[in-house]
Amino acid sequence: MEKIVSLCKRRGFIFQSSGIYGGINGCWDFGPLGVELKRNLKNDWWYVFVSQREDMVGLDASIIMHPSVWVASGHVEQFHDMLVDCKECRHRFRADHLEGDRCPDCGGELTEPRAFNSMLKTSLGVSDDTAVHTYLRPETCQSIFVDFKEIYSSSRVKIPFGIAQIGKSFRNEVNPRNFIFRSREFEQMEIEFFCKEEEEEKWFDHWRECIWQWYLDIGLHESKLRWLEHPKESLAHYSKRTIDVEYDFPFGWGELQGLANRGTFDLTAHGTHSGKDLSYFDPESKERFIPTVIEPSAGADRACLAVLCDAYDEDEVDGEKRVVMRLHPRLAPIKAGVFPLVKKDGLADLAMGLEKKLRKRFATFYDQGGAIGRRYRRMDEIGTPFCITVDYDTKENGTVTVRERDSMKQERIPMDEVGAFLDKHCGPERVDA
Ligand code: ATP
Repeated sequence: MEKIVSLCKRRGFIFQSSGIYGGINGCWDFGPLGVELKRNLKNDWWYVFVSQREDMVGLDASIIMHPSVWVASGHVEQFHDMLVDCKECRHRFRADHLEGDRCPDCGGELTEPRAFNSMLKTSLGVSDDTAVHTYLRPETCQSIFVDFKEIYSSSRVKIPFGIAQIGKSFRNEVNPRNFIFRSREFEQMEIEFFCKEEEEEKWFDHWRECIWQWYLDIGLHESKLRWLEHPKESLAHYSKRTIDVEYDFPFGWGELQGLANRGTFDLTAHGTHSGKDLSYFDPESKERFIPTVIEPSAGADRACLAVLCDAYDEDEVDGEKRVVMRLHPRLAPIKAGVFPLVKKDGLADLAMGLEKKLRKRFATFYDQGGAIGRRYRRMDEIGTPFCITVDYDTKENGTVTVRERDSMKQERIPMDEVGAFLDKHCGPERVDA
């Protein structure tokens, strides 16, 4: 894990927020490469689960919502973590994360557990007496329920259908840790899929398969993934059934995403609290009912972390250690490095021209500094899948070499086919499309 954290900092993937002030616990910044990686990941998720499906629509709702939302959803009452403090070293822990009944840091005695609401409070309005006190959302899904009627009456969707949203969520985690795994500000990628109660199992199984396939498609090793079923007695207040996808991180298995059957809990609760009818009218059966909700709920940061951990590798090239990020080409922040073999004899101009043309459609990087091997290594370390080199033959016959990161094999292709080549390997379409 240390190696991954240090590579992320060194190459500008991810670093601590507000570093020059000593950092702030549980908040992280995605630098130039990290933002590309995360954006590729979110775009791929959206492409697969929204754009490519006829039964899905999207939403981008506000982070700050009416305070009553959080009363209706049960968060004010129930969104608690149980805290314990060590009486000796004063370190604080989440009771459900502890294995024994002593402090894991110094072995000291612990206090009795106390409930602590993990929503982040905020106020809207300039003066204290008129300000509205509310929260930064701890999950993105509540706006989907609150906007359910607005969406289904304006977009001609029919049950079964789903609404997807990607956005920031905030939780005042007692103990943020494991790099970006548990942060206080993070991004979720959530789907609420509305169906008839009698079809809940069918849709639950459908989403289980789709989710699993997506993690494989973004390149995670299947041996590092597993499902975990939540026992009935530990289900959240809204859930009829929850299973999690877990990933085998260097610090142990951790939740990547949940899949829950939320039943009719949320629409019923918001209907009751708002006094608005949130039922659905089925034009075919002429029935009115509250739909059942199947919720695949993923974290963009945890998915990024899994992708980084999965991709990190070290091997040996010509007797030297090589650090290589075996990122899926679709997710790689930079798709191709473009190099002239040497700067002179017009090769630099040719390579720059090619890079400028490719840049219109792909994230590329022009590099003419140092030996070609060093340039390859710099690209390998950040997961760039292809390096394209312009050499003397390019001037003769218009071909370039394409060197592939993992196999390090090189092939010559015509310069004007490089765009189509990158499209095939790095574009959003699945191979069988
Ligand atoms: P945990 O048990 O790890 O605290 P959770 O079960 O409370 O997580 P959910 O409420 O199911 O998490 O949230 C859905 C997804 O949002 C999680 O699977 C995870 O990917 C992401 N997520 C939740 N909390 C955090 C966090 N503090 N930091 C980063 N991602 C998070």
